[in-house]
Amino acid sequence: MAQPLFGPGKPLSSPLYMASVYDVGDADTCDAVLGNETPGFAYARDAHPNATHLAGHLATLEGAAWAHITSSGMAALSAVMLSLVRPGQQVLLSNRLYGKSTVLVRQELKRFGVESAVIDACDLDQVANALAAGPRLFLVETLSNPMLRLVDVDKIGKMCRAQRCKLFVDNTFATPILLKPLAHGADLVMESLTKMIGGHSDVTLGLVAGHDPDLAMTLGKVITTWGFTADPFPCWLTERSLYTLDLRMRTATANAAEVADFLAKQQGIVQVVYPGRPDHPDHGLACTLLPQGAGNMLAFEVPGDRAAVNRFLQAGPIPLCPSLGHATTTFSHPASSSHRADSPAGRAAQGITEGLLRLSVGIEPVDTILDQLSRHLQAI
Ligand SMILES: *Cc1c(COP(=O)(O)O)cnc(C)c1O
Repeated sequence: MAQPLFGPGKPLSSPLYMASVYDVGDADTCDAVLGNETPGFAYARDAHPNATHLAGHLATLEGAAWAHITSSGMAALSAVMLSLVRPGQQVLLSNRLYGKSTVLVRQELKRFGVESAVIDACDLDQVANALAAGPRLFLVETLSNPMLRLVDVDKIGKMCRAQRCKLFVDNTFATPILLKPLAHGADLVMESLTKMIGGHSDVTLGLVAGHDPDLAMTLGKVITTWGFTADPFPCWLTERSLYTLDLRMRTATANAAEVADFLAKQQGIVQVVYPGRPDHPDHGLACTLLPQGAGNMLAFEVPGDRAAVNRFLQAGPIPLCPSLGHATTTFSHPASSSHRADSPAGRAAQGITEGLLRLSVGIEPVDTILDQLSRHLQAI
């Protein structure tokens, strides 16, 4: 006789359900499961236990009524756009978005007749003017890359509500540990789980979460129909990462604050960009919006050209990786990676010089990070 799957001896950690299809028993049950009338699983592109478990944990963490897991952060962004926007409608974009988010709306959605406008989300007069044109959706990032500008989610949330525009927040750099945008007036939040939430550079995955049950249904249909579903294994790995997310974010944030102050004291560093420091333009907003700390990301500028940056990178052990959120500290170089498609003038306007480096601060003992950075600094 087959043993019951669970009962006494139920595993404490979630099993990995590496299955694309399920035995549904009979035609009535099949009908009911596929029609969402009975809980259960039939086909993994529609739903599977590892995504459902992970979504449940993350919905709680975001303070959301529901959450959907997608195969990447970009899949989450695409799913929201395809769920909410029709040809002829306008999407409003912050001018400091992840590069591919802007490409998604300005190039891909444009092929389907979707209009867009780009504004400075830190300038509330510009926001008010742009909202008067009646956009369907406004996409902002809580903390921007790489200059770590903050948006006033509460104020923009109120302004969007008054104009019946949906506020969609990419919260990847803050994570729900530091900020829960839905509690500050956002209608929808997305996270690239590939970054701090996954936390070990071994998954590509996304999340979208919100309150509105109708939107949950629409998004669910878009995700399963367009095929944005995530595989079980990365969902399982990411559920495992959630046990340490709070610890990792707190430690990395505390480390970043120390590293920023350390760098600011070094001879030869041109500038340090960290919203936790009083010399950052959004320091005041950071104190109110991010009371637990300004996150694990910072940027700083070394003097000189590309050759000087290469010498700096080669002088020590911290690796150059065009991503963020690993458990250990990594560099990225915006001019040659995230912002390489921008014109030199466009980069200059954002303060992105050849010497600007971004640091994704990890959870090592802070002295280890400072020692490693000191070795790089000898190249200056
Ligand atoms: C990485 C990233 C994305 C895209 O996520 P993927 O998981 O790489 O598809 C979107 N927004 C921000 C802010 C990111 O850093």
